[in-house]
Amino acid sequence: MQFTYPPRVSLAHLPTPIQPFRSDVFNHEAPTVFIKRDDLTGCALSGNKIRKLEFVIAEAQRQGADTLITCGGAQSNHSRATAVAAAQSGMSCQLVLRGTPDAEPDGNLLIDKMVGADITYITPEQYSSQRMEIMQSVAEQLATQDHKAFIIPEGASDALGSWGYVAATEEIIKQLEAQHITIDTIVCATGSGGTLAGLILGKALFEQSYDVIGINVCDDAAYFIDVVGAILNDFQQTFHLKLGLSSADVRIIDGYVGQGYAISSQDELAFIHNIARTTGLLLDPVYTGKTMYGLTQQINSGRFSKSSIILFVHTGGIFSLFPRRHELFSF
Ligand SMILES: *Cc1c(COP(=O)(O)O)cnc(C)c1O
Repeated sequence: MQFTYPPRVSLAHLPTPIQPFRSDVFNHEAPTVFIKRDDLTGCALSGNKIRKLEFVIAEAQRQGADTLITCGGAQSNHSRATAVAAAQSGMSCQLVLRGTPDAEPDGNLLIDKMVGADITYITPEQYSSQRMEIMQSVAEQLATQDHKAFIIPEGASDALGSWGYVAATEEIIKQLEAQHITIDTIVCATGSGGTLAGLILGKALFEQSYDVIGINVCDDAAYFIDVVGAILNDFQQTFHLKLGLSSADVRIIDGYVGQGYAISSQDELAFIHNIARTTGLLLDPVYTGKTMYGLTQQINSGRFSKSSIILFVHTGGIFSLFPRRHELFSF
């Protein structure tokens, strides 16, 4: 389908490589697995969020904003990427984080502080029911000081942010063509839904025939079918692109949240260790570790045929390993 991208700033190191992934965690009947290394979109900027932020920041600047406001957990990769991207773009950053001011400046939070983000800490209850109002009041406060703020929703998972993974789809298609690879399935971690939405939109816009599957790391399949379906609707309306996509096009493999969002089981941590030792690839405990663990179980239980080719999107998250240093070696 014909379309034009919205304005975009260039922040990520692109294209990220696509590499074969061979590991003895897979059984002999396993399909071929490749990894899209979106953990390599940058160092401080690493991960999937910067792809979305390239479009979001262009829009913020078009509107004349000098400050970015966003939210997340204290170890939010999205908040860290936003804080770094703001500093790199000459903007200020206000983060509304779930946590307390005595949180150890470690991992993502350390970087937030290094790049000078201002942080407002809120409780989990405030986060779940009032985060938008709280970000709005931060914006109003800034307006009284003649600053114009742009509010980015959790994970930059909205219609505008989805362009990040539409553009990533174009990049992936070009790379696969050059490497003469035809994939059957793309798999990604799903936390706030924007990456999955972008990959589904990209597949439709570029008329591809592979499957796009999200493995959720929180909530459940029904929740994400709704959330991602809403982003798909919003995208098609906002950008006047009638792709006929709805929640019926959202595919989730549920069952790998484990003990809860950002809570790791010993099996998951042992899996992350094993992959690190045997392949040198670092997965994170919150997103990619659970997702690759889930994908491995699905592969080993025969969900995919040996002849099929899967592309796993490594969405980043390396900094969340550091605050888990004790837990990672506790067994
Ligand atoms: C945010 C994040 C995800 C999930 O992406 P969504 O677009 O929020 O679903 C996956 N992996 C990492 C490392 C992330 O930071």
